[in-house]
Amino acid sequence: MAPSPVMDTYARFPVELVRGRGVWVWDSAGKRYLDCVAGIAVCCLGHSDRRLKRALCRQLDTLQHVSNLYRIPEQEQLAERIVSSSCLDRVFFCNSGAEANEAAIKLARKHGHTVRGIAEPLILTANASFHGRTLAAVTATGQPKYHQGFEPMVQGFRHFPYNDIAAFESLLADCEAEGPRVAAVLLEPLQGEGGVVPGDPAFFRRLRQCCDERQILLIFDEVQIGVGRSGRLWGYERLGVEPDAITLAKGLGGGFPIGALAVKSAVDHFRPGEHASTFGGNPMACRAGLTVLAELERRQLLPHVQRMGELLQDQLAHLIARHPSLLEGSRGWGLLQGLVLRPEAPSAAAVVQACLEEGLLLVPAGAQVVRFVPPLTIKPRQLRQAVQLLERALLRLAR
Ligand SMILES: *Cc1c(COP(=O)(O)O)cnc(C)c1O
Repeated sequence: MAPSPVMDTYARFPVELVRGRGVWVWDSAGKRYLDCVAGIAVCCLGHSDRRLKRALCRQLDTLQHVSNLYRIPEQEQLAERIVSSSCLDRVFFCNSGAEANEAAIKLARKHGHTVRGIAEPLILTANASFHGRTLAAVTATGQPKYHQGFEPMVQGFRHFPYNDIAAFESLLADCEAEGPRVAAVLLEPLQGEGGVVPGDPAFFRRLRQCCDERQILLIFDEVQIGVGRSGRLWGYERLGVEPDAITLAKGLGGGFPIGALAVKSAVDHFRPGEHASTFGGNPMACRAGLTVLAELERRQLLPHVQRMGELLQDQLAHLIARHPSLLEGSRGWGLLQGLVLRPEAPSAAAVVQACLEEGLLLVPAGAQVVRFVPPLTIKPRQLRQAVQLLERALLRLAR
């Protein structure tokens, strides 16, 4: 392929995707792929969904963009829909996951200053987490490889091992030895990019107690697991713990860019002028969000995701049993599942490459995990087909 004027921030496959319908996409050579990436957990209704297309076309015809200087009815409605279906009370809209986390980080710092009286608040996040690529979000991200070359990082972050309550309590004790220092704990209910690692409910229950005792904010990054992907509308429902705030993005717009920070009213700390976004929550993005949430309900996609998650786990268990020397196990919630490769097996990147050649799109989550994040509308037959194509790729690699 010709050299590209687009910067090499991604190691792109030499494949151009030009068309999509449901769970299928086609490249510029006419080859068809079963898409179990869905734009990385974004296209939850599949590609070219008729209802989403119609809603957005109608919105294009009505009003596309106005400033947040004015009330935007679609934004009011989407916020209402989010708060009425969650433990949260108010919403700030932006355009991406990183931007939603930036808002959460600013909110946490203000909470530290105003509620806990901390001059230099700290935010605790987990090793192997992923919170985005803007400077504060990437500092929150507990993966040194993403920091390299971009130092100095933002001040005020400390990391600890995920799901490890002893390590958390010891870090907290260190940080607070001379008085209040910690404003918030920011965690994914299930670590996505970091290898598809579900949160441990017992860890999160104890964490909630620790935070409550000190008025420390517990913020969940639900950018990947939120909006139905876990089989529940919100990821925190899987843990039985209520956060003080959540961040959303990926699936919320079904392919249209949108991000959000939703908070409980007790920690609704932003006053006019303290945070903003030009595009955040514009009529197009909010129409997309409204349509996605309406379709999840109308098509009863939450029970569907639960069933499809079980089917996928079952199919993967059989696959693992057939290839014990290559595959270690699988884990995940709903339609965010990871297949764990053995250290001596080909890398996740190599498996994903071989799958692409077989006509199946998958995405790595770290070096040894192959991730399934298909459209939430995927059918049983298509999931079985995906696992068959994956097996063909594995057999070819193993030869
Ligand atoms: C993808 C992701 C982000 C970053 O979202 P962007 O829209 O790429 O900025 C943040 N947190 C989690 C958990 C994610 O999966």
